[in-house]
Amino acid sequence: MSQPSAASKVHNFSAGPAILPQSVLAKAADAIHDFGGLGLSILEISHRSKPFVAVMDEALELSKELLGFGDDYAAMFLQGGASTQFFQVPANLLTETGTGHYLDTGTWSAKAIKESKKYGTTNVVASSKADNYKYIPKDYAVPTEGDYFHLTSNNTIFGTQIHDFPETSVPLVADMSSDIFSREIPTDRFGLIYAGAQKNMGPAGATLVIVRKDMVGQAKRDNPSMVDYHNHIEAGSMFNTPPCFAVYVSLLTMQWVKEQGGVAAMEKRNDEKAAALYAEIDRNPLFFGQVATEDRSKMNACFELHDQGHQAAFDKICKASGLDGLPGHRSVGGYRASIYNALELGSVQLLIDAMQELEQARG
Ligand code: PMP
Repeated sequence: MSQPSAASKVHNFSAGPAILPQSVLAKAADAIHDFGGLGLSILEISHRSKPFVAVMDEALELSKELLGFGDDYAAMFLQGGASTQFFQVPANLLTETGTGHYLDTGTWSAKAIKESKKYGTTNVVASSKADNYKYIPKDYAVPTEGDYFHLTSNNTIFGTQIHDFPETSVPLVADMSSDIFSREIPTDRFGLIYAGAQKNMGPAGATLVIVRKDMVGQAKRDNPSMVDYHNHIEAGSMFNTPPCFAVYVSLLTMQWVKEQGGVAAMEKRNDEKAAALYAEIDRNPLFFGQVATEDRSKMNACFELHDQGHQAAFDKICKASGLDGLPGHRSVGGYRASIYNALELGSVQLLIDAMQELEQARG
C-alpha cells in the first residue's frame, strides 16, 4: 500500500470536498495504478466489467446496510450532485394534487424549495431565514398529509443540524449531504435520503440516493429518462456510465466506516470531537458560537472572534499548526471547523490548542 504523503500532516477542516481516511486515499491511489491485480487502472476499466459491477453492487448494498435500510428501499449512485436531487425529488415524488412540504433551514433548503415550486404545490412549513438561519425552527405544525416532508439534516454553511427528526406519517425526504454516515437515523421515518459524496463519503461526482421502493414514480410524471429513478434502480445504477472512481472511493470509505464499528461508532467519535470543540468555543473568552446552542452541528462548527482585530494572529497560529480550511462560508464569515468522520480527535485538539495559544497571547 502507498505511504501517506506529506500532505497528511495538514489537518483538513474543509467543508467539502473534504477529508477522507488516509487508508482510503492509499487504497484509491493503488487502484489507480493497478485495480485488484488486473494490471489495469480503476480509471480505465469498463463499468460493465465484472470487477466494477461488483464494486457498484457492494457500494449499493453497503450504503443501505450501514444506515439500516432494508429490502423495501433501493439505493442508487447518481450524478449531478445533491443539487440535481433538488429537482429530481419533486419530479419523481411530487404528485399533481399533492404537496411537498419543506423546512427552510439554510441556503441548500432554499434551493430545494425553489426547484420544487417548478413541479407542484410546495409548502414551506417554517423558516429561520429572517434570523440568518441561526436556528432550526421547532414550533411549527408538523405536516400530517402530503407527498413528503423535505429536511436538510445538516446545514453545512450555517452550522446547524436537526438532532430530532419530526415524527409524522408523511415520509421524510432528507438532504444528508453533510452528515451521512455520521450518526444513526430512524430509517423507518424516511421515504428518501440523498447525499453528495464529497463530505463524508468520497470524492465529488457521485450522489447517493436511497428511496422507499413503493414511492418511486408516485408522481406519475413523464420525466426525461435520466430523471426517472425507476430507470436507475432497474439498471443497478448503470443506466448510463456511472462515476466509477467516485463510487469506488465511496465504497472504500463505507468499508472503512464498517471496520471502525459502523455508524454508531462514528456517532460516538463525532460526539466526542464536537463536545471538545464547542466546550472550548464556550470557555475561551475570545470566541463565540454563532448559532443556537441546541441546534449546533456536530459536523460543521461555526464560530467567531469577538474582536476581529485578532483574526490575523489566529490565522497565523492555525497556519503554523497545519490547520487548514477553517474560514467560514462567505455568507456567514468567521470560522467553520468541519469535523467529518475521517477527522481525528487529535486534529480537533490541535485547533483547541491554537485557540488557547491565541488566548494566552491576546486574552
Ligand atoms: N446540500 C448540502 C447540505 C450541501 O452542503 C451541499 C454542498 N455541498 C449541497 C446540497 C450541494 O451539493 P452539490 O454541490 O453536490 O450539488
